[in-house]
Amino acid sequence: MSCIFCKIVDSTLPSYKVYEDEEVLAFLDIGPSNYGHTLVIPKKHFEDIETTPGEIICKVVKVVKKIGLSIKKSLEVPGYNIAVNNGAIAGQIVPHLHFHIIPRYENDGLNLWPQGKYGDGEAEEVLKKIKIQ
Ligand code: AMP
Ligand code: ZN
Repeated sequence: MSCIFCKIVDSTLPSYKVYEDEEVLAFLDIGPSNYGHTLVIPKKHFEDIETTPGEIICKVVKVVKKIGLSIKKSLEVPGYNIAVNNGAIAGQIVPHLHFHIIPRYENDGLNLWPQGKYGDGEAEEVLKKIKIQ
C-alpha cells in the first residue's frame, strides 16, 4: 500500500487532523495555498470522483460543509474555495480522492482560472456532446 493518504488514514504517516469519523478524515494540507488549507478524504481508497460510490461522496461533502462552516467562524474568513483536481491532467498528484478547502482572505492574491469566450456555434457544439439526455 503506497498511497500517502491511506498512510495518513492508518497513521503510518503523521498529519494535523482537523476532523475524523468512521468514513471521512480531514487534515491540514502540508503545502497550503492559504492559511488553513484543509483536505477532506474518504478513509477508504478511491482514486477519483467517478470511482467513488455516491454515498461516500455525500459523506465526504457533508464533512466539507462542516469544515467550511468551522473555517469561516474560526478564521473569520468571508469565504473559501472548494476544489477537486480530478485526474492527472487536472493537477491531481495524489491518486486518492480529496477535496481541497482553501480559506480566502481579502487581497490574498490567489487567482482562479482565466475565463474565455465561445466562438460562433461552439457552445451549441459542446452542448450536443456533453448534454445528458
Ligand atoms: P492534488 O494536486 O489535488 O493531488 O493535491 C495533493 C495535495 O496533497 C497537495 O496540495 C499537497 O500539498 C498535499 N499533500 C501531499 N502530501 C501531504 C501530506 N503528507 N500531508 C498533507 N498534505 C499533503
Ligand atoms: Zn489511498
